[in-house]
Amino acid sequence: MFEVHNPADGSLVGHVHAGTEDDVNDAVRTSWEAFSLWSDTDPLDRSRILFSAARLVREDKKELSLLLTREQGKPLRESVNEIAGFARVLEYYASITGTLQGDYGYSKNYGHMMVMRQPLGVCAAIIPWNMPALIMGWKTGPVLAAGNTMVLKPSATAPLTCIALAEHLYRAGLPKQVLQLVTGSGRVVGQALARHNNIRSLSFTGAVSTGTGVAEIAAPTLKKLILELGGSDAMIVCKDADPYAAAKGAVSGRFFNCGQTCTSIKRVFVDSTVYEPFVQKVRELAETLSIGNGLSDGVDMGPVHTSGQRKDVHFLVQETVNNDQGKVLSGGYIPDTGSLKEGSFYPPTIMTGVDPDAPVMKEEVFGPVLPVSAFDTVADAIDMANATRFGLGASIWTHDMRTISQATRELDAGIVWVNQHLRIPPEVPFGGVKSSGLGRENGRYALLQYLEEKTILINP
Ligand code: NAP
Repeated sequence: MFEVHNPADGSLVGHVHAGTEDDVNDAVRTSWEAFSLWSDTDPLDRSRILFSAARLVREDKKELSLLLTREQGKPLRESVNEIAGFARVLEYYASITGTLQGDYGYSKNYGHMMVMRQPLGVCAAIIPWNMPALIMGWKTGPVLAAGNTMVLKPSATAPLTCIALAEHLYRAGLPKQVLQLVTGSGRVVGQALARHNNIRSLSFTGAVSTGTGVAEIAAPTLKKLILELGGSDAMIVCKDADPYAAAKGAVSGRFFNCGQTCTSIKRVFVDSTVYEPFVQKVRELAETLSIGNGLSDGVDMGPVHTSGQRKDVHFLVQETVNNDQGKVLSGGYIPDTGSLKEGSFYPPTIMTGVDPDAPVMKEEVFGPVLPVSAFDTVADAIDMANATRFGLGASIWTHDMRTISQATRELDAGIVWVNQHLRIPPEVPFGGVKSSGLGRENGRYALLQYLEEKTILINP
């Protein structure tokens, strides 16, 4: 058994089974048994089940959000939005399930040429703890809509909301064998999924180092791999940007979910002419954020998910200061008073004058730390933004059309925002380039990943 604890105070939230390789083998076998039934189900019936599950989830939004906050730590308001996000993704895929068509052409030489799209079979998913409900939606929505069956491993530290969401799908009419959750550790359950010979695709979301390990284990099986990995998103603030809107964007883009989002703003580059007022505004806004137990009223930021992760975040802040690569303007300490000392809290931390080559800029800092640097030209800012191994998201804050055109072309990232950051609608693809991953979540693009093209040539 695994215990699940609330990171705000260490209290026990629940237990889950510590899954084994046998559990994975059983789940995959059962999943294949259910495949012919589910893939033969009329797409509109699949759509009805997804719509109905979304409705049930919305009805139980309050209870599900409480559970998510208790196991993950985020403020209740964020949990409510995330649960609604899960429902929204199911609704989106429910709405396009009936549009799965192939292609047709005719040639005098080859006759009727058809491309049929068929589901892959059993698909696996491994997901992290930072946005467990939303990411579960990103995986299950397209997989189930396309007619595949699924075995999903939630994170060991935040599995309970995923289990509750699966129950809602069953209540909506999804046969239990079509979606099975195997709880347990990544080392046991995750690796068993990666090396299983009879799984057709594996969609993994997590850290780059874990993802490359998973890819290595999965390589001999030649299953289709989708890797949604870490990011170190840059925000570029140009001299014509609205300073208040940009500062607000930086604060919400960094401190939302306690900085534990793959596309959190992890580096800020500001035009040197507006650097000082921007930094002061960010500081002012960050210092008004209230930190505490996500279940309490008015809390803006919860704890870091584990104390080990907080230690890593604090180490990178200290190392930057010790190496003279930046200064702490606000935050940057481990709270040791009041109720904050009972959980793994870390204050919103702003670092200024940060060397773009400092580890706090180069590594993915998965916590509430915002390093800021100045730039002289937009070209320099784009070069600095691109100078990491990551390529998930980036944003540029300006209204100048030439700059927007240059930045959207030149920023090496899977998603580029203009005058906004961290907004991920289910209708458009989301994913990274370089070490941030392979493949895409969301949109029709994700659905197509879970279908195989079969070519049929008929000589009349
Ligand atoms: P993680 O440590 O890589 O874990 C992710 C998942 O992989 C968990 O379910 C984990 O299980 C499992 N796992 C761990 N070791 C494994 C192994 N050897 N083989 C197979 N599976 C294994 O990542 P995390 O700390 O949970 O999540 C944070 C990372 O995810 C960040 O880098 C973040 O940027 C990234 N992320 C990316 C996206 C995206 O869409 N690109 C979205 C969200 C998060 P356990 O729970 O048992 O460790």
